[in-house]
Amino acid sequence: MELFASNRPLHTEQTPCLILGVFEQKKLSASAQEIDKHIDHAISKLLERGDLSGSIGHSLMLYHPHGLIQAERILLIGCGKEENLNSFSFQKIIKHMTDVLSQRNIQDACSTLHLLDLKNQGKEGDKTDRKSDKNKDQKNNNLKFKVALSIRAISHESYKFQEFKSKPDTHHKTLNKLVFSCPDQKNLDLLAQINQGIQEGQTIAEASIQARYWGTLPSNICTPSYLANQAEKIINHLKNNFKNTADKLSIKIYGEPELTQMGMNCLLAVGKGSREETKLIVLSYQGSPNPTDKPHAIVGKGVTFDSGGLCIKPRQNMCDMKMDMCGAAAVISTFEAAVKLNLPINLIAVVPAAENMPDGNAFQPGNIIKSHQGLFVEIVDTDAEGRLILCDAMSHVISEYKPQSILTTATLTGAIIISLGHHLSGLFTNDQDLADKVFEAGKKSHDGVWQLPMNDQYQDQINSQVADIANLGKDGAGSITAASFLSRFVGETPWVHIDIAGTAMAPQGATGRPVALLVQYLMDLV
Ligand SMILES: [Zn+2]
Repeated sequence: MELFASNRPLHTEQTPCLILGVFEQKKLSASAQEIDKHIDHAISKLLERGDLSGSIGHSLMLYHPHGLIQAERILLIGCGKEENLNSFSFQKIIKHMTDVLSQRNIQDACSTLHLLDLKNQGKEGDKTDRKSDKNKDQKNNNLKFKVALSIRAISHESYKFQEFKSKPDTHHKTLNKLVFSCPDQKNLDLLAQINQGIQEGQTIAEASIQARYWGTLPSNICTPSYLANQAEKIINHLKNNFKNTADKLSIKIYGEPELTQMGMNCLLAVGKGSREETKLIVLSYQGSPNPTDKPHAIVGKGVTFDSGGLCIKPRQNMCDMKMDMCGAAAVISTFEAAVKLNLPINLIAVVPAAENMPDGNAFQPGNIIKSHQGLFVEIVDTDAEGRLILCDAMSHVISEYKPQSILTTATLTGAIIISLGHHLSGLFTNDQDLADKVFEAGKKSHDGVWQLPMNDQYQDQINSQVADIANLGKDGAGSITAASFLSRFVGETPWVHIDIAGTAMAPQGATGRPVALLVQYLMDLV
């Protein structure tokens, strides 16, 4: 999709379709009022007659508008009650607009919806919102934010996975070109904000779609080697297409012989029953002007298929376990976005990738494995494998790169879906300052998180009688005991863990989360 900012007066905008917002109670948005004057008040008259209610999900197309405007048609989009418009309803409105354009096969349009005023999101039940309503209003009305959110919503709504349809749906048309109108011809700052929003929104949208695509691919295609090859392709593409990145980027891919030498025994144990080779993928970006800056590390779980191993899962919904690599997909895609956005940070992205299968060679319940860090782990359940591949990846990145922060993300526990459903990801930490940053980034990016406790009592639940630690907690709180397990491997490094089992894997499939959250978090570090 080609995206542009335009500061031409609205009535002179030459476009196949001009998109204007209208509210309930016959209220026109500022842009609609502006156009209304030029077309003999046709919009006011329609609303007066009750042709359009203005509710969200309702819309009306005006063909051949009379008067002095250059647009071929006008699409009026219902935006609900003006006083209730917030960034959540805004996304619904944009998605509805995307559907209407697609149904009518309109692939070129000019929108004014990013000019609507958003009110604060008090309903979210979130303390910081109430503390700073005013700031929130300003932030939400930031054009950059609204443009970026629009692009993400359009991209999310337009995406269709058709790779394995012999006869793809050719009726599914998506926007090729969208112009974001700028209200003020003289204010170049506003135009610059729109252009920044386009760059950020497009980069994040593309990264999210890539993560969603990999998550949707079946596990006979998306294997540990596939993820490693994709990461390699991305590095080469960035080096060749983005200026001055060639000497800032590097990639290391470790196979089973190297991992054995490195003592990554927990990672290797998970892949032992599989014919697919276990990999560790490490991407490095030296974007900081100060090369001695310690890097930030992001680590994502890449179990490309999780059968549960010998503790095999029930048949029902096992096919969803092709998505058990959504953390890996998000981490690689976020890394790519950070480089494209030219963030001045040093960043390490790490993906332990393995397939968890039952087999004569598979690791067994009761086995004791010496982790890379040195702790002995008793395997209580071969289906609690995510923490095993993560603990080795974490201790490798800590010993090798001494990062200033480490963020792990994984479809780690089904228990997090019981706690938070599919809306918010679970957040766990050993460092409240870092957790607060991630929480804020979640709110800003609309890819939210909610913090769960990690008190010391929970640590007792992962004690083992025969080894240093057990890979499964007793007596409930499965998400917390999983995070508690990871905490044993992180030492003093500030760390946040994000459990995305409910948010990256939704009932409708892979979502591309938490790419938006991670990119926002990295942008806010600057
Ligand atoms: Zn599992």
